[in-house]
Amino acid sequence: MSGLYYADHAWLGGSQAVERVLIGVSGGRISSVDADVPSPAAVAATHLRGLTLPGLANTHSHAFHRALRGRTHRGGGSFWTWREDMYAVAAALTPDSYHQLARATYAEMALSGITCVGEFHYLHHGPGGKRYSDPNALGAVLISAAAEAGIRLTLIDTCYLTGGIGEPLQGPQLRFGDGDALAWGERAAALEPAPHARIGAAIHSVRAVPAGQLGTVAEWAAERSAPLHFHVSEQRAENAACLAAHGRTPVALLAEHGALGAGSCAVHATHLDASDIAALGSSQTCICMCPTTERDLADGIGPARALADAGAPLALGSDSNAVVDLFEELRALELDERLASELRGHWPAAGLLRAATADGHAALGWPDAGRIEPGARADLVTVSLDSVRLAGAQPQTLLESLAFAAAAGDVTDVVVDGRVVVRDGRHALIEDVPAALGAAISAVLQ
Ligand SMILES: [Zn+2]
Repeated sequence: MSGLYYADHAWLGGSQAVERVLIGVSGGRISSVDADVPSPAAVAATHLRGLTLPGLANTHSHAFHRALRGRTHRGGGSFWTWREDMYAVAAALTPDSYHQLARATYAEMALSGITCVGEFHYLHHGPGGKRYSDPNALGAVLISAAAEAGIRLTLIDTCYLTGGIGEPLQGPQLRFGDGDALAWGERAAALEPAPHARIGAAIHSVRAVPAGQLGTVAEWAAERSAPLHFHVSEQRAENAACLAAHGRTPVALLAEHGALGAGSCAVHATHLDASDIAALGSSQTCICMCPTTERDLADGIGPARALADAGAPLALGSDSNAVVDLFEELRALELDERLASELRGHWPAAGLLRAATADGHAALGWPDAGRIEPGARADLVTVSLDSVRLAGAQPQTLLESLAFAAAAGDVTDVVVDGRVVVRDGRHALIEDVPAALGAAISAVLQ
């Protein structure tokens, strides 16, 4: 996994892109970064035309939701009716069909510049909750799927015990449950990491894990220095139920049970009060915003700027995979804040890019990824500047052009840990990604 790359333009972490950058790669790591190198021919480097970025981190994904894309919009409804559609897909999956769907979905992510995905994995068991002979069979197929698609993965194994506060699991939800948090932890402890895969933990939400068992999951993660993620306050109904049952907000409940901290990641964090924002910020809990999904599900707009001001790093996720485009997610962070505040200019472009790269990778337990600098993992993502969207972009404002106009389809080249995974817009490991997606989704919907 070694080589030499010459980027016409590269983002090296500053407020502007840098020109004519020669990037040395050795053993899957970046070994050297030199700017103002005259030409790729003189140094026999692979020429990356356009703007090269560090790998993008998709900090929150449910791969199987990809089968719902476009199929949940007729008839209005709410988050809760969408959830019924999602359960229907969950009910249909087998280890084989899940493997094919995740492989194709991760390949779509690779084509869009994502080099690492956080898979928030809660579909653990067979129909009715029956254990597979390997109780981690579905986690294992996700790890394999990421390897086949050429990206890294953090399998965020999710504890999901109740259908709502004080309600038993029912129907398709039975596939999510391990009985109690100790049994969840025993099963999750048997998951095998791999060079491309780490294991994290999740509390699905305060709806799905009883208050008395939140601490067990948090301790499991702390003992292993594993990332701990949780959905929180995505919908107002969750806050109302938590207040009614526990007399405190979901964030306050999670804080009380040791779930906040620099190794933790709160997903959505949409409907917060001032003390929630202070608790998340002062504990440096990462906040993963998923703006395209939050729009899709009519969740609302989370207080991202206030959370960042309070001290929380931000990350981004494609979540339901209704859209897989980290450029759309990162600009939505700024643009949604504009809609809510009626003011412009909440983040510089480099700040949005940082959420999509270094801070996202760190929240997934890969703090050595997401930067183009010596010693970092050699993840490189090149965006063409020749597309109709980016044609005419000026060198001084390349990052702004990228942040506010680029699309996933503008990605031409992707290197993950020094290995070429996408070249000239083609996936190097999976010949026909659209066909793979079509076949995998048809198999699930049969
Ligand atoms: Zn989610």
